[in-house]
Amino acid sequence: MTDSSSSSSNNNTDISRWIPNTGKTSFVWKFFQAKTNGRAYCRKIDKAATGHDNECGYNCAYKSQTSSMLYHIHNFHKQFEKKLEVSKRLKII
Ligand SMILES: [Zn+2]
Repeated sequence: MTDSSSSSSNNNTDISRWIPNTGKTSFVWKFFQAKTNGRAYCRKIDKAATGHDNECGYNCAYKSQTSSMLYHIHNFHKQFEKKLEVSKRLKII
């Protein structure tokens, strides 16, 4: 959105390729996939959130940390990692 370095129509001229998620175990990679252009794209189809039937398309610079991707999944798609060991501790004060 604030990235003005790329042109508006980058679909046809985008020569970057998908990078397989092989070996990526983080929760975010169930939704995101990185491209060779150094960005990670949200590929989740979530009509309730996006209003269309296509992939979400949200993307952010893919670095080593996944916090911004996780933030997107949490706040936009309302998806949370389901862990068996998740502790639902209801602390009654
Ligand atoms: Zn998304």
